[in-house]
Amino acid sequence: MKILVTGGAGFLGSNLCKRLLEDEKNNVICIDNFSSGKRENIEELINNERFELINHDIIDYIDIKVNQIYNAACEASPKFYQQNHLKTFDACVFGTRNLLELAKKYNAKLLQFSTSEIYGNPIEHPQNEKYRGNVNTMGVRSCYDEGKRAAETLCFIYNKEYNVRTKVVRIFNTYGPNMREDDGRVISNFINKAIRNEDLEVYGDGMQTRSLCYVDDLLDGIIKMMNTDDDFVGPINLGNDQEITVNELANKVIELTNSNSKITYKPLPQDDPVKRRPDLRLAKEVLSYNPSVLIDDGLRNMIEYYKKE
Ligand code: UDP
Repeated sequence: MKILVTGGAGFLGSNLCKRLLEDEKNNVICIDNFSSGKRENIEELINNERFELINHDIIDYIDIKVNQIYNAACEASPKFYQQNHLKTFDACVFGTRNLLELAKKYNAKLLQFSTSEIYGNPIEHPQNEKYRGNVNTMGVRSCYDEGKRAAETLCFIYNKEYNVRTKVVRIFNTYGPNMREDDGRVISNFINKAIRNEDLEVYGDGMQTRSLCYVDDLLDGIIKMMNTDDDFVGPINLGNDQEITVNELANKVIELTNSNSKITYKPLPQDDPVKRRPDLRLAKEVLSYNPSVLIDDGLRNMIEYYKKE
């Protein structure tokens, strides 16, 4: 099986490439433009003869014959995706469209990495796939949120109009190895500051919640989703439903790192969602998805990972 992973040198993409290569029947082609992906993330795969790296931006069409496409190519951290709003939007829209054209040409299956940002600052809690969201079309997050929403629409259009086998997963906050030290998201910020005994900066009052998933659990769900029947497109939520406030997370990280860090408070960025927790009933029913890594264990792994880095 020839599998294309776009964004394959990024955090999720590199973990996915590694996981897919564990099956000796798989050949993996990784595409990345290295805007936030890192060569170190895939260094251990470079000598694998079933692995190929192509330095390319999916905004431009590329023609390669593959059986499956995992489209993970897009900056996902607010810090990175807000550096160039138009590029982020284009990667979501033109990038996804190019890959859908490729899937159409070679009758390949395409799994789209969508996001809980589809729900914006949600009024419904927890978020079920039927909820249509509360997204600002003109805010600092809209290049990503609306880009990802449009990408979902493209998947549904190609499925309906051209019978392209598409699958859409909505990924909730995930963390794990290969997440950049300067990623800017909460897990890497808190752990790296705690390790250095610097103050942890909580944005807002810290009462906003997130539900944090360890990457291994997420990948189980993603690979199962790719292998569902062709008529199952989704969207389907994937993540972990252990909900935690940002304050609780900051205290947990300080405790687990035995750090002398203190907590300081900074203004909440615009449109920062107040609460977020996936309704995972559909994933449990259709995929027998069962995320099992507890937050404390996941954080301990990340602390070790960043200390080594
Ligand atoms: N956050 C924080 N301090 C940080 C980084 C993030 O308080 O150093 C907060 C942020 O405002 C948000 C939550 O943590 O409420 C998760 O932020 P992240 O950037 O990880 O992801 P997202 O907002 O996209 O879920």
